[in-house]
Formats: sequence, structure tokens, C-alpha cells
Amino acid sequence: MILEQRAVAPFYKNGFLVACERTNDAVYIDPGDEVQDILAVVRERELVVRVILLTHGHMDHLAGVNAAKAATGAAVLVHRDDLFLYESAVEQGQMFGYALTPPPPPDGFLVEGQCIPLGDYVMTVRHTPGHSPGGVCFDVTRDGEPGSTLFVGDTLFAGSIGRTDLMRGDFPTLIASITGVLFAYPDETVVYPGHGPSTTIGRERATNPFLKDATPRR
Ligand SMILES: [Zn+2]
Ligand SMILES: [Zn+2]
Repeated sequence: MILEQRAVAPFYKNGFLVACERTNDAVYIDPGDEVQDILAVVRERELVVRVILLTHGHMDHLAGVNAAKAATGAAVLVHRDDLFLYESAVEQGQMFGYALTPPPPPDGFLVEGQCIPLGDYVMTVRHTPGHSPGGVCFDVTRDGEPGSTLFVGDTLFAGSIGRTDLMRGDFPTLIASITGVLFAYPDETVVYPGHGPSTTIGRERATNPFLKDATPRR
């Protein structure tokens, strides 16, 4: 699997380019202000971005959708429950004093369990509401092999969890998503959050202070 990660000011939100090393098919997860850096990688490595996936509708995760779609022509997919956020991206930007051009209408909606082929890999959509109602994670598996890599947006961070005080966030729902959906993955599963460094399910299960009392220990 080819994996390129970039984060730039002001939000230091991770944008991820995931691609199959055999077919050069690529997916761009959460295009934000790093979009030109990621598009440069796409050109250098001659990757073909097939789809633009959003973990959720907060503006730091979609500020680069316009540029990414214009450069690649790829379809933009978001969970329907975050459409209200996607459509209010400009207003969200204004709250932070940030001028954003409105993103194009999404080309489709992500649903729990949906499989997105990516060359020799498969991405599976996991609905993990709480940080936002339509928050999703992406489980990337090599076809026919065990083990997953998770892209979790702002649901789970290394040593922390997503905030739930923003538009329609909900704390019990977030904890249920993490313990019910993400913690069902084995300890060695590598996790790439929307901000900050990567971690593993095992490390968060054992040490995340927000989840110590919330989850049965194994
Ligand atoms: Zn967010
Ligand atoms: Zn974020």
C-alpha cells in the first residue's frame, strides 16, 4: 500500500493519499489545506485518484475538495448525515475567520459496510457517529489477507478522542462508536487519525485516558 500523509497550517489536519502499488489506483481522504502537496505527489507518482472520501463534514477536512476534484475529476463521497455540515462549509469557515469557496455538491453518499475497491485493496466504510452524526472511518484491507489499516478522522486520536461540543456532536454516541466499532479490531491494527500521529487499537485500548472506564479490558 502506498500511503502519503500531509498536514499544514492553520489546522494541521491530516490529508491521506492511499494507493495500490500495482495498479496506481488512489483514494484521497479528507482534502484540506495540504491539497497542493498531495496533488504534487499524485503527479510525481503517476497515481490515478478514483475517489475523494470524507471522514466527516468539518471544514478543515474539506477545504481542499474543490481543488482536489478540479485536478482529478474524482467523485466526492460523504455520509448523508453530515450533508448539513458539508453544505455549511463556508459558514464553518467564517466562524474561524477563514474564507472558503463552497465545495461542489457531493457525487454520492457513504453507508456503513460499503466496499470501495482500490486496486488490490478494499476500503470498507464504518459509520462511527459522535464527533459528528455522519462521521465514518475507512478500513483498508489487502484483498484476501487479514489485517486492516484504519483511517478514523476525528473519532479517535493518539491519547485522546474527538470533541463532541460542535454541531450535533454527542459524547455517549462517540464512546459507543469507539468501543463498539473501532475496538472490535485487533490490537495490532494501525490507526491514522485526522490530526496528530498514528497509533494502534491496542495502545488506545490500553492507555487512552478517555476510554479507560468506558471499555471492558481484554
Ligand atoms: Zn472534525
Ligand atoms: Zn478535524
